[in-house]
Amino acid sequence: MPPPPDAPPLLLTNATVLDPSPRPAACDTVAVAGGRIVAVGDRAAAASSLPSDHRVVDLGGATLVPGFIDAHLHPLPMCFFEHQLDLSTCSSIDEVLSLLSDRAATEPADGWVVGLRVDDEALRERRLPTRVELDAVANGRAVVLMRRDGHHAIGSSRALAAAGFDATTPDPPGGVIHHAPDGTLSGLCGEAAAQMLLATVPLPEWDAFEAALDRVVAAWLRHGITGISAMCQTSAEGPAGAAGALEHAAWAGLLDRVPLDVQTILIATNAATMRDLRQGPMHRPDAGRRLDAVKLFLDGTLGGRTACLHRPYADGDGGHDDHGMLTLPTERAYAQLVDAHTAGFQVCIHAIGDRANRTAAELYARLLTEHPGPHRHRVEHASVLDDETIDLLGALDVTAVVQPISLDSESAWLAKRLGDERIDRVYPFRALLDAGVTVAGSSDAPIESSDALAAMDCAVDRRGTGLHHALTPVEALALYTQGAARARQVEDSTGTIDDGHRADLVVLSRDPRDGFAGVDVLATYTGGQLRYQAPAQATGAPTGDP
Ligand SMILES: [Zn+2]
Repeated sequence: MPPPPDAPPLLLTNATVLDPSPRPAACDTVAVAGGRIVAVGDRAAAASSLPSDHRVVDLGGATLVPGFIDAHLHPLPMCFFEHQLDLSTCSSIDEVLSLLSDRAATEPADGWVVGLRVDDEALRERRLPTRVELDAVANGRAVVLMRRDGHHAIGSSRALAAAGFDATTPDPPGGVIHHAPDGTLSGLCGEAAAQMLLATVPLPEWDAFEAALDRVVAAWLRHGITGISAMCQTSAEGPAGAAGALEHAAWAGLLDRVPLDVQTILIATNAATMRDLRQGPMHRPDAGRRLDAVKLFLDGTLGGRTACLHRPYADGDGGHDDHGMLTLPTERAYAQLVDAHTAGFQVCIHAIGDRANRTAAELYARLLTEHPGPHRHRVEHASVLDDETIDLLGALDVTAVVQPISLDSESAWLAKRLGDERIDRVYPFRALLDAGVTVAGSSDAPIESSDALAAMDCAVDRRGTGLHHALTPVEALALYTQGAARARQVEDSTGTIDDGHRADLVVLSRDPRDGFAGVDVLATYTGGQLRYQAPAQATGAPTGDP
């Protein structure tokens, strides 16, 4: 959305102005006109840059920071999740089954029951429900559960049949259809097979999608998010499988409802698709919409043991997938890299395991040797990294787009899964910064919450995984402002509080330099417009704005 030229000039004053980059003292005021920051400094000097009829907003000593940027999320799946049963808080299989049974009772006999974010690590039984258990509660209805990581799904017999799976179906390329010890389908499907199962779920109506997106946007603004990088499928390839094949068309139709700065990252195998779609609404740079990056997947997830590792999982079963797997042959990945890079697009490689990340770094090294030139390529997740990979990312200037909030959901089992010696290699934000890598914050929502302050707290606190990779609060803030702006190629216009930048600003209840506990978002501005204000009586929110 463009900064509205008619937005009234604003003087945001009596604030601690906190930017990730150091700023001279005596700075308590930001002047905004035409949707942009026009002055930063003391009140008198900043006011002199505005016409005399400007409005003054007294922030009452609150802290003003750049708007938060989420450099990797999935908006359409976020909307889809809004309609389904959330199983993330369940602590036992019985609880999961009872919620499913309640939901099934409200559905017609041929209806579907969909449960999301089921987490076997959080269930007492430490396993996922089975096909037989789903059949027992659904009375013949189709049931599909998505595992928390989004890369695994479990189906009832009816749902598996709808996907065309029976006990003799071979594993699809890049996927696994799991079997019970007696040879029947267990119900669990991994990676490409999970996408095929999820693709059988009927989609909500269009107006339901619009209403869901409005709720998603409200949550972003409540969390202080003013810019996003939106992952978007163009074919059956991607986390939503065939159901996501029209995601690009849906996203193009929904974009007008999003008053944020939006980079769209296409999950596409060729630059030609990108060039076609840049003619449409996803690419209007003057209006804060850019379509300038493509994403490809090299591996799976740690949660599902499909992230590709150098050495086997510490808690694996010794089977064929003990190291996880590369989900794309490296030569095919390289051909896609060359295609996107030589067309001038940014490339974003999904890599979670240390072997997948090394492969990504080596692919980039080869690319930039054979096709040297400026680039802004990225690795998405960069979860487990060996030292050589970190050095290579730094030397090649490849950005790491990370999700510190995963420490909240994964810290209980990371050491068990990776072993004590490898736990030091997980989410190594400190080592990345020390190697000169640009590190950008993101949520991967709906896999994780888009609560950016909670994510910054995880980057500082590390949730019991050891503090040697801990960041300072200002470094954590930089992940979600300056770092994410650079990852999205817009550091000249967002990410810091500077003259000429979009007036994307967040008012915090207190200075986070002592830590993020108890810090709340009081107000969010995008393009100089107040888009969210916390209830005044509860929070002491700033006054003076309509
Ligand atoms: Zn993602």
